[in-house]
Amino acid sequence: MQIIVCLKQVPNTNEVKFDTKTGTLVRDGVASIINPDDKNALEEAIRLKELKGGTVTVISMGPPQAEYALREALAMGADEAILLSDRAFAGADTWATSLTLAHAIKKIGRYDLIFCGRQAIDGDTAQVGPELAEHLDLPQVTYVKNIIYIDNDKAVVERALEDGYEVIEVTLPAVLTAVKELNMPRYPTTSGIMDAFNVKKVSVWGIAQLASAAGLVGLNASPTQVKRTFSPAVKGNGELLTGSVKETVQTLLKELQEKHVL
Ligand SMILES: Cc1cc2nc3c(=O)[nH]c(=O)nc-3n(C[C@H](O)[C@H](O)[C@H](O)COP(=O)(O)OP(=O)(O)OC[C@H]3O[C@@H](n4cnc5c(N)ncnc54)[C@H](O)[C@@H]3O)c2cc1C
Repeated sequence: MQIIVCLKQVPNTNEVKFDTKTGTLVRDGVASIINPDDKNALEEAIRLKELKGGTVTVISMGPPQAEYALREALAMGADEAILLSDRAFAGADTWATSLTLAHAIKKIGRYDLIFCGRQAIDGDTAQVGPELAEHLDLPQVTYVKNIIYIDNDKAVVERALEDGYEVIEVTLPAVLTAVKELNMPRYPTTSGIMDAFNVKKVSVWGIAQLASAAGLVGLNASPTQVKRTFSPAVKGNGELLTGSVKETVQTLLKELQEKHVL
């Protein structure tokens, strides 16, 4: 099977702290990592390659340092890596991101399966996978938590829902987006890490290599633009409710309803 995995390098948002005095995010020393759901997508792709044969190609659009995320993917067992990096791609919203990825995947040409993560922990939109499927005119299954059966023509997968799951049969090629329940990503081996830096290559494609996407990338091709970003206000002190159990529960429910939590 020829499998493509779309992988994003993200800041480890679990480590981003909030400075309550200045009201700003503290990003100093925050490591860049492979987006967690993308690691599950990558693990599944490598596992399928081990079962069925074929290749795993990882592709990422990002700044030059995104190469390290791709090297980590190579160390885990991916065969080929493509970094889409060019100033022309900068400022892309999800539409321009997914379109640029779609043009690159068309250029790669051979694929039975395209894997994305469900959602990136920085942008948090969960839009790129489904948009990619639309650009490539492929069927899609999002929130994939298990692959029950797969051959070159079809896959039967479990799609996670809030209160259970549904079993879906999909014809290949298709786009699947992975959730963390799908598997436990492996650690790279020492020889895998050596190969990732000494043997395997990361190809870098800019707009020159992606001529079909000219005019369709980056900020200018993005229907949405971020006008303002700000840190959410720090919550005030907690409030202790007093009175009988019935009264406090009623007050609590009222306050939660007023705040639209319930
Ligand atoms: C309204 C809006 C406006 C924005 N405007 C700007 C802007 O002006 N400038 C700016 O720099 N950013 C902007 N962004 C952020 C940018 O759109 C996203 O970082 C990017 O498009 C990916 O979206 P996401 O992080 O939500 O990924 P999701 O859609 O949550 O990601 C889902 C999956 O898609 C794949 N994927 C996502 N991004 C990539 C990638 N780059 N390479 C490979 N695979 C990927 C991964 O498999 C990932 O798990 C904007 C976002 C929004 C919502």
